[in-house]
Amino acid sequence: MTVPIDLTCQLNADLHCHSIHSDGVLGPEDLVLRAKTNGVELWALTDHDDVTGVKEAAQVAHDASLPFITGVEISVTFAAETVHIVGLGVDESDAGLDAGLRQIRHGRIARAEQMAVQLERVGIKNALEGAMKYVGDPQSISRTHFSRYLVETGICRDNTEVFKKYLGTGRPGFVSHHWASLEQALGLIHDTGGVAVLAHPGRYKQLSATAMHALLTQFCALGGRGIEVITGSHSPADAVKYAQVAKDYNLLASRGSDFHGPQESRIDLGKLPLLGESLTPVWSVLADRIRY
Ligand code: AMP
Ligand code: MN
Ligand code: MN
Ligand code: MN
Repeated sequence: MTVPIDLTCQLNADLHCHSIHSDGVLGPEDLVLRAKTNGVELWALTDHDDVTGVKEAAQVAHDASLPFITGVEISVTFAAETVHIVGLGVDESDAGLDAGLRQIRHGRIARAEQMAVQLERVGIKNALEGAMKYVGDPQSISRTHFSRYLVETGICRDNTEVFKKYLGTGRPGFVSHHWASLEQALGLIHDTGGVAVLAHPGRYKQLSATAMHALLTQFCALGGRGIEVITGSHSPADAVKYAQVAKDYNLLASRGSDFHGPQESRIDLGKLPLLGESLTPVWSVLADRIRY
């Protein structure tokens, strides 16, 4: 039997990453192996708008004696921008969650078809077929899958260049999309016993300071509990800034690499700085959601 971990400690927790069930490169089993090798002590799989991989992830984590929390990363439209909310400890077998996530994923295929039309206009052919080669479930097709195709064909060097030139907001292949509302996303998470965490706040550069304050205020009012402070998306300066935001808004701090794949992610699973003693970790309220 595994001994329960001490949740009051600084832990090598990695509570944000992706598998082939959304836009990650590895399957749950390879993620678990990698997490174990890198010393992860508490792990969550958080695929975009999808919990299909959670059951397998829970099983392989159990077999490897890696403490596990269920997770999902929900796409939200707030003030006309996309923001991401991580749900930790959700019930992956809940029919309401399944239906809600299905509805959020709905439209990804039509959006992808439109992206391919727009990319063709700037001379990039067969982008939909190319992107589909990288997709597990077509309903989960994302910009990341297009990005891989553009790198594969040599059109761009890496994902950063793809987003800068083709897929970022306002670029030729960008198609605006209406995701869930903040209220819907937190409702889905809370209805199945989960804890909501604002993902990588440093990435929302398009939100003004006023809009960011509104986001944080509404997130708290809707029962959101956590914010990512240490993430692969944050610079050291972002980490300092959002540690203070966590304190100012009385939010619990989370830590996750947002790992997508060995060749693609800046930070590997479990290779992040520790949260720091001055923050209250989100896992301090997750004791009853951890599966050993
Ligand atoms: P989508 O949900 O289809 O809009 O795709 C969003 C995904 O694209 C994110 O989850 C990231 O994995 C990836 N992404 C977004 N911006 C960038 C970027 N600047 N560089 C690399 N990947 C990015
Ligand atoms: Mn992603
Ligand atoms: Mn995200
Ligand atoms: Mn992510």
